[in-house]
Amino acid sequence: MSIRPSETVFRPRDVERLVVGQATSDGAGVKLTRVLAQPLQRRLDPFLMLDAFGSDKADDYIAGFPDHPHRGFETITYMIAGRMLHRDSAGHEGLLENGGVQWMTAGRGVIHSEIPQQQEGLMEGFQLWLNLPARDKLSAPWYRDFTSGELPRFTTDGGVQATVIAGESHGTAGAVTREATAPLYLDLHLPAGARFSQPLPAGHNAFLYVYRGELDVAGAAVPAGRMAILANEAACDGVVVEAAGVETRALLIAGRPLNEPIAQYGPFVMNTEQEIYQALADYRAGTLTGG
Ligand code: MN
Repeated sequence: MSIRPSETVFRPRDVERLVVGQATSDGAGVKLTRVLAQPLQRRLDPFLMLDAFGSDKADDYIAGFPDHPHRGFETITYMIAGRMLHRDSAGHEGLLENGGVQWMTAGRGVIHSEIPQQQEGLMEGFQLWLNLPARDKLSAPWYRDFTSGELPRFTTDGGVQATVIAGESHGTAGAVTREATAPLYLDLHLPAGARFSQPLPAGHNAFLYVYRGELDVAGAAVPAGRMAILANEAACDGVVVEAAGVETRALLIAGRPLNEPIAQYGPFVMNTEQEIYQALADYRAGTLTGG
């Protein structure tokens, strides 16, 4: 067994606070839990939103998200269970299912729909919104989808299985990298009692979302359905998590803050109110997605 120095965390971060998501609905009435909501955008810069959806009742998801616009940021949808069809104004289409990820850069504008392709059964997953730096907010839209089998994955000596959606972990490069925000997005499956270390740059904002079981993070218990915001102490070099006696699954998300003004109106996230008015005007004029 060899432990590379880059995997070692000497001073793990503490939990700054636990956050309970808010039950809400979006799209055409899809029930979901908004884990990262607008009041946390500054604290968790560059992340703007995290929604968790999970239901085996068709009425909670069946209507999906019909055509709607986005401008100024990226959406990352991670589907644990279920099937969802994406179509957008840039000509991209993709079926997202069972462990797949869709990464969409809205840039200057897309209009897309996200519609469930199932009449019954469990639909479970997450949608994360990642901000774009001011210079890229009006860039050309970009889209990639990854099946579960295409996502980089590794297993530690301790039996922890990690899926690397973005960034880099234990020498494994993720499916997507982004220079400005350097996002890290891991899905961790920990057997009972297993431990996982992840180095993190001190200035990067980071949080965990536990969706099965319970984690111990520097002595704090983080149960399923809670987000743990990790403290940014300058002396700390990463995070260490341990499954507290039960099999546990959690997302670990971190990134470099943009430290730019955030102006949001629904599906548009820009830097100034003037840019929001422009996005609305462009949408009404039918030129949101135009060059
Ligand atoms: Mn959308």
